[in-house]
Amino acid sequence: MKTWLATAALALAMTATPAAAQDKVRVVATFSIIADFARNVGGDAVEVSELVGPDSDAHVYAPSPAEAKRLADARLVLVNGLGFEGWLERLVKASGTKAAMAVTTRGITPRRMQDDGHGHSHGRSDPHAWQSVANARIYVANIRDALAKADPDRKATYEANAAAYVAQLDELEAEVKATVATIPAERRKIITTHDSFGYFAAAYGVWFIAPQGVSTEAEVSARDLAKIIRQVKTQKIPAVFMENVTDPRLMKRIAEETGAKIGGRLYSDALSAAGGPAASYIEMMQYNLKELRGALMS
Ligand SMILES: [Zn+2]
Repeated sequence: MKTWLATAALALAMTATPAAAQDKVRVVATFSIIADFARNVGGDAVEVSELVGPDSDAHVYAPSPAEAKRLADARLVLVNGLGFEGWLERLVKASGTKAAMAVTTRGITPRRMQDDGHGHSHGRSDPHAWQSVANARIYVANIRDALAKADPDRKATYEANAAAYVAQLDELEAEVKATVATIPAERRKIITTHDSFGYFAAAYGVWFIAPQGVSTEAEVSARDLAKIIRQVKTQKIPAVFMENVTDPRLMKRIAEETGAKIGGRLYSDALSAAGGPAASYIEMMQYNLKELRGALMS
C-alpha cells in the first residue's frame, strides 16, 4: 500500500512538473521595449509577444485580426499608456479579451507638452517615458507587480528577476550620466524627427528639438520647417539625427540646408531586430549614447 501510494505520488509529481513548465504566462506587450522589460522580469515563467515589433512605429500602428486573437489568448496585457497606443482600446474591444491590463507607466510623472503655437501638442502627455532609466525602473516595478498578481505562485521568481534587472539598470544609468558628463554642455544640442527624447533630455541635460511633436502622426508644415532651420543656424546645433521609426528625408533636408552633420540614427520608440545594435533596452540606451557622443564630440 505504502509503495503504491509512493509510486502514485511520484507519478503525479512527474506529470505535474512538465505541466507546470508548460504553464507559461502568456503576456502581450504593446511594443518591443515593454516586451524586453517583461522578458527580463518574467524569465522562463512567461511567454512574451509584442504587437508593434522592432523598428516599427507604435504611434500609427494598424492592428490585424491575428493581433486580436493574440490578445484574446493572453493572460496579461502590458501597455505604455500616456496616449501612446491610440489604437488599443478598439483592439481590446474587438478581441473580447479577459486578460488583465497593466499600465506600465503608472507612477511616472508625465512630461506635459507645451503648446507649439499651432495647437499640435496642446495638453498632451509625452508618452516616451522609457527614455529615462529612472523611469525604466518604474516600468519594471509595475511589470513585476502585474506578473505577481496574474501568477501569484511565482511571485518570488518575479521579484528576484526584477531585482537582478534593476541592478543592471542602475549600472546603465551611471554609464549614461558619466558619458553625458564628458560632452561639453554647450555642444549637447540635437535635432531628431519627432519629440521622443524629452525624458532623456530632462534626466541627463541634453537638449533636443524636433519638428514633429510627440507623435509621428502630425505632418510638419513648411512654416515649422523654416523655423527649425533658423533655429539650427542661430543656435549652432552640431548634429541632426534620424530615428529608426521615422522617415529620414526631413532630417537630411535640414542637414543640407543648415550644414549640420547627420549624426546617425537613434532608436527612439522601438528596439532593433535581434542581431541589430539595439536589440534590448540596455543595448538601445548604450547605442544611442555612443551615437550622441560620437556626433557631438567630433
Ligand atoms: Zn514616438
